[in-house]
Amino acid sequence: MRYSQYLLPTLKETPAEAEVISHQLMLRAGMIRKVAAGIYSYLPFGLRSLRKMEQIIREEMNRAGAIECLMPMANPAELWQESGRWEKYGKELLRFKDRKSADFCMGPTHEEVITDIIRNTVNSYKQLPLNLYQIQTKFRDEIRPRFGLMRGREFIMKDAYSFDLEDSGADTSYQKMYQAYRNIFNRCGLKYRSVEADSGAIGGNFSHEFMVLAESGEDGIVSCDSCEYAANVEKAELIYADSVPPVATQEVQKVDTPGQKTIEDVARFLQVNPQQIVKTLIVQTSNDEVLAVLLRGDRELNPIKLANLLGVDWVLMAEEEVVQEATGAPTGFAGPIGLSIRVVADAEVKTMADFVIGGNAVDVHVVGANHGRDFEVSQFADIRQAVAGDPCPRCKEGKFESWRGIEVGHIFKLGIRYSEAMNATVLDAQGQAQPLVMGCYGIGVGRTVAAAIEQNHDENGIILPMPLAPFQVLVTLLNPKDDQVREAAEKLYQQLLDLNIEVLLDDRDERPGIKFKDADLIGIPLRVTVGARSLKEGNVELKVRESGAVTMVSVDEIVVQLQ
Ligand code: ATP
Ligand code: MG
Ligand code: MG
Ligand code: MG
Repeated sequence: MRYSQYLLPTLKETPAEAEVISHQLMLRAGMIRKVAAGIYSYLPFGLRSLRKMEQIIREEMNRAGAIECLMPMANPAELWQESGRWEKYGKELLRFKDRKSADFCMGPTHEEVITDIIRNTVNSYKQLPLNLYQIQTKFRDEIRPRFGLMRGREFIMKDAYSFDLEDSGADTSYQKMYQAYRNIFNRCGLKYRSVEADSGAIGGNFSHEFMVLAESGEDGIVSCDSCEYAANVEKAELIYADSVPPVATQEVQKVDTPGQKTIEDVARFLQVNPQQIVKTLIVQTSNDEVLAVLLRGDRELNPIKLANLLGVDWVLMAEEEVVQEATGAPTGFAGPIGLSIRVVADAEVKTMADFVIGGNAVDVHVVGANHGRDFEVSQFADIRQAVAGDPCPRCKEGKFESWRGIEVGHIFKLGIRYSEAMNATVLDAQGQAQPLVMGCYGIGVGRTVAAAIEQNHDENGIILPMPLAPFQVLVTLLNPKDDQVREAAEKLYQQLLDLNIEVLLDDRDERPGIKFKDADLIGIPLRVTVGARSLKEGNVELKVRESGAVTMVSVDEIVVQLQ
């Protein structure tokens, strides 16, 4: 590719809208441009990196026996109604109507569509196991899209779904994906941890997140300094909450207040469907009555299991976006949310914020549990999160270290939740219909590239690892008007192309200073500078972007070196 004929609009200034370094650099290096909040165009240079990422994923998925397919972005409501998620999903699900007024949504994930495919095409256990994946554009109407490709509304995801006859088979499918994910992130050259994430109703360690270590990460993770245990703090915290004593509660159907609020009122205030409310309870606090609402979470977390874990009768759950709207909690905050809802008189309720208060605000906490002892006082969470220095619950010997991480991948054993709801069965060896045991496995393509930049950059620009770099070699032609220099650069360019090396020739009519600045910014791993002075001695200059190491290499040697 010739720079002079390419579209690589670099920026000198850091765009004000970009908070994190990867977002700044992706804009400055001409990789992406914003179209609307959380919606980006991938410019040619950025697209090349995304395609590299996709190819690594594709190779490792194929190697693990998964099969590629492609499902539509537009999903009919009927499938989502069957699974129950049409009602449950909340506002992240972008719904729309077609010209005939039929309901549709943009797929934020594809359990429904894939389950529909499999139930219509597979009927015998002999056709199993199956694992299908796609690399496809998702839409999630994130409440606070930010950080560029890191948290977009429209983004590319690899999602895979496994189908097995038996639980043990599903475990094997899960392990294969776990290994494939390790291969993928190892190949990308990323520093990451695979951590136990919440496993919801399923139990066991059948949900792992793959976290790229970065200070800008939205997730907190802990790992033991002595054993293998590593977990998202949202999961690790559950272990610490074991000691919370039972709470005196009383189940109610109607909230006894001046306004006599019904469950429907509560649902409306929480902006959830009434069917999502499992239980509504009055909890006595030291100076108030607190209404606790048990919401059926999405696949994120099972409140009943959580309540058991906590040894309490209730756990207040709210969808991430509900909590965010109510409290302004940071994006990406999810998990057990110990918000209490104080019932206030009608007149006072104008916004969610009037209605919802932090569960551990002073004197608004659960009876029988002391903050400071049972959990730390925190504006957003009732349950103390694991922190560095805490004893490891697994080996009971080590201590926790804590990290910030970017969730780039997530694998999850789904069990029969979707297959039961959608009646996806196969016949077993005895001819009995059995619900398929499923797993789902996601990787954010753009988020991983952004995370790689978050980890690999310096003050001058991007230093993408070779496997994700848009080009392998940049040939910088210093004096385009000097025929000899131009010919030497052109010849090298052609030789590299012939060897299938991805090369960008900077043949622009620009000053060397500008070319070098751009070269550092866009961060192609190897730069060969062809200039009049070194050429006189039969040399070109080879610079490694990462180390900054510069060597003079003879014109005859350079191609061999770059191979
Ligand atoms: P998060 O906790 O960051 O909101 P998630 O848990 O909702 O992510 P999953 O449903 O597990 O995401 O989706 C699988 C993968 O898709 C994630 O691990 C992440 O890499 C990617 N992903 C999810 N949401 C986004 C987004 N808004 N923008 C870019 N990538 C995303
Ligand atoms: Mg999310
Ligand atoms: Mg998550
Ligand atoms: Mg996830």
